[in-house]
Amino acid sequence: MAGMLPHACDIERLSDGELTEFVRLLGQAAAVMQSSAAIAAAEIETRSRRELGPESLARKAGVKSGAELVQRLTGSSLTDARKAVRVGVLLETAQAVAPEPADAGPRSIEVLAALPGAWSAPIAVAVRNGWLPAEHADRITSGLGQPRDDASTPAYRQAVLRLIADCWDGELTPEDAGRAAKATRAVLDREWAQQNAQRLYEQRSLKRTVRGDGMVKYDLLVDPATDAQIWTPIRRHLSPRLGGPRFMTDEERARAEELQQDARTNEQLLADTFTAFLTAGVTSSGVFGKYTPTVTIAVTTSELKKAITADAARRNSPPHDGPPGQPPDAASGTSTHRPPATPPPGADGIAWLDGRPEPLTGAQLITALCDGDAAAALLDETGQTLDATKAERTFSTRQRRAMALRDGGCLIPGCPMPPDATEAHHLNPWGENEANHKTETKDGVLLCKFDHLNLHNHGGRIERRGNTYWLHWPGEEPVRLLPKHSLTTQLRTQGELP
Ligand SMILES: [Zn+2]
Ligand SMILES: [Zn+2]
Repeated sequence: MAGMLPHACDIERLSDGELTEFVRLLGQAAAVMQSSAAIAAAEIETRSRRELGPESLARKAGVKSGAELVQRLTGSSLTDARKAVRVGVLLETAQAVAPEPADAGPRSIEVLAALPGAWSAPIAVAVRNGWLPAEHADRITSGLGQPRDDASTPAYRQAVLRLIADCWDGELTPEDAGRAAKATRAVLDREWAQQNAQRLYEQRSLKRTVRGDGMVKYDLLVDPATDAQIWTPIRRHLSPRLGGPRFMTDEERARAEELQQDARTNEQLLADTFTAFLTAGVTSSGVFGKYTPTVTIAVTTSELKKAITADAARRNSPPHDGPPGQPPDAASGTSTHRPPATPPPGADGIAWLDGRPEPLTGAQLITALCDGDAAAALLDETGQTLDATKAERTFSTRQRRAMALRDGGCLIPGCPMPPDATEAHHLNPWGENEANHKTETKDGVLLCKFDHLNLHNHGGRIERRGNTYWLHWPGEEPVRLLPKHSLTTQLRTQGELP
């Protein structure tokens, strides 16, 4: 093959027409080579299946997987080798449903829609026909995942056709296509969306390591919903350095100029901003209590309605099947960690943060609106904005300070979170009765983020009886929520408070 390389002097002798034709043919040949390599890679993967045991091609070659063998043979990266395998599988699928045409003709959604075979056949044929770059197809198929059952395959096929059309009409980048596919999956498979949100949330962690020289390393892992809350204000603050939008006012431009001149590295600026926000949150009463909402949640009216109904249903549901009768565990100092009461797929609403492909679950949406710290952008079913109001129930800084004095921290028994690390739970369920939406301090209690979401996830309800608050888990005896501030202890000891 090396002998096929032309000499530069041969190329120099070509006419303009010959040269352009030569380059066009080379492009075609390269595409054929790439596709052939992908199909061969898929075959290597097939012959390297784990169940083949010692007969596995990869194992005979002394590597772990077919992709690894492809990597070794081609000298590519493992990521590229894996991608080649996936594209090869697509091309095999295409060959199975439609014979290769001599000339695929212009791209056409109608042709793809008429294809027989699996739901993914259109995307396979689109790649084979050269109508869709393999990179896009790869992102779309991995974003969509697999349909849960046969009943949902027609919807997946429709989705694939729509995504392909969007790639053409909207000239989507592979990343955009992947994000759109992931969001589509969340809509088509609500159970997956719910489980995925939970799975991501479970992985949250913060590790703190003190190095020998005294520097401290924080290794923080958060789910997309939490990241939206952390990252949105930071990104806005550092936008001139992070490639944000252009600035309109003189003041903005001056600030942008200042930040550009700042001698700190981006990493140092990020560290300074992150810690400044954290410190501001800790020193003000109620974390971010005086902030204007920085996170906007986009939700359609019907999804919001679903979320409100599901929230009410969780509160009125029979006891869940987890460990019976387990209100938050005072002894261990943490709340009982049960899986969320999952409504039937499609029964709960979903909402979106910052155009991220991972939706908020209904419970996350209700929790965010309950606290009033997030703004909801309501859209009708055609995607038109109805209203972009700040949730009208936000407690003021002064009210939060009063609540901090009254509750002394997260009210859940055994929870150690101080007032600074709490958000406000509104006793009147969000959206149930507009007239209830007054923001008097007696209508809210402080809960830490975890216990707040836990409450909404499991249909917990907090009731006020006079000056006392009671926690109801579905089907269980109510538990009195005792204030944690020493001042309250004093007043109760003196008999001045119940
Ligand atoms: Zn709440
Ligand atoms: Zn708590």
